[in-house]
Amino acid sequence: MSSVAFIYDPIFLKHNTGSYHPESSARLESILEAIEPFKEKLLWLKPSPGLLDVISEVHPSFHIDRIEQASLDQEAIDADTQLSSDSYDAALMAVGAGVEAINAISAEKAHHAFCAVRPPGHHATSTQAMGFCLFNNIAITARYAQAMGYEKVMIIDFDVHHGNGTQDIFYEDSSVFYFSSHQYPAYPGSGAGHERGRGDGEGFTHNFPLQTYSQDEDILPIYEDDLLEDIESFQPDIILVSAGYDLHINDPLAQLQITTEGIAKIVEAIMRHSSVPKIFMLEGGYNLHALGDSVAQTLEVMLEHT
Ligand SMILES: [Zn+2]
Repeated sequence: MSSVAFIYDPIFLKHNTGSYHPESSARLESILEAIEPFKEKLLWLKPSPGLLDVISEVHPSFHIDRIEQASLDQEAIDADTQLSSDSYDAALMAVGAGVEAINAISAEKAHHAFCAVRPPGHHATSTQAMGFCLFNNIAITARYAQAMGYEKVMIIDFDVHHGNGTQDIFYEDSSVFYFSSHQYPAYPGSGAGHERGRGDGEGFTHNFPLQTYSQDEDILPIYEDDLLEDIESFQPDIILVSAGYDLHINDPLAQLQITTEGIAKIVEAIMRHSSVPKIFMLEGGYNLHALGDSVAQTLEVMLEHT
């Protein structure tokens, strides 16, 4: 039995964003190819579609209905966010992957999990799909984790873009800590250092904006030092990671200069700081070679920490 679950379903390949869209099914194909040499070390699990009552913990029914209708109509929500006839089913399954990860960890089938999903989720607010994201997979996973007894959830987001949706959903909530590093300023515009939460959530959001062209030496102290401090003070019961690989130096959509080795060190720090279960949920990453390599590195580091 492997102690790292790899959660994937071929329906994710059928979310068709059109020709030339960077968020394409080729991304997952490159990940599958890169992990081929050690795939038997992973516990492969297929999710079930996310149930509407689970999704409703984050998104009101009109948002769920809108995604279903946009998928039927094969329409675009905005210039970036195109749906095809299978997009709704893929989006439900992406949510289901997070649910499957929590269930597998709760049942002690796995210590940690990696959800290789698309569409991604961290830009989706409770009421607005945007930035390639339809449902906020990681926010829904956080709420499901809480329903399963993991009361304090930490979300770490190393995607090059700020997870505005995730931040927004938990901005006034002290039970979910949102920790993000990202290029700034950049899409979607949020994520300044002074955004620290509001009301009960004050102090439970921590943003680390990084200048364009920042390198490994600029980002690693955030994960070596600041993250450790926040984990020690918050004491999470589970850690969810918005794993976006568009921070890579070769990514075409942004301008950070983080190497594959640097990404492995970020993952290593996340794994080392705390012994609680970790669930990685794929977000961005648009250079196919860099994405495959970086996810393979992530899984190798996860396997070393079980
Ligand atoms: Zn991104």
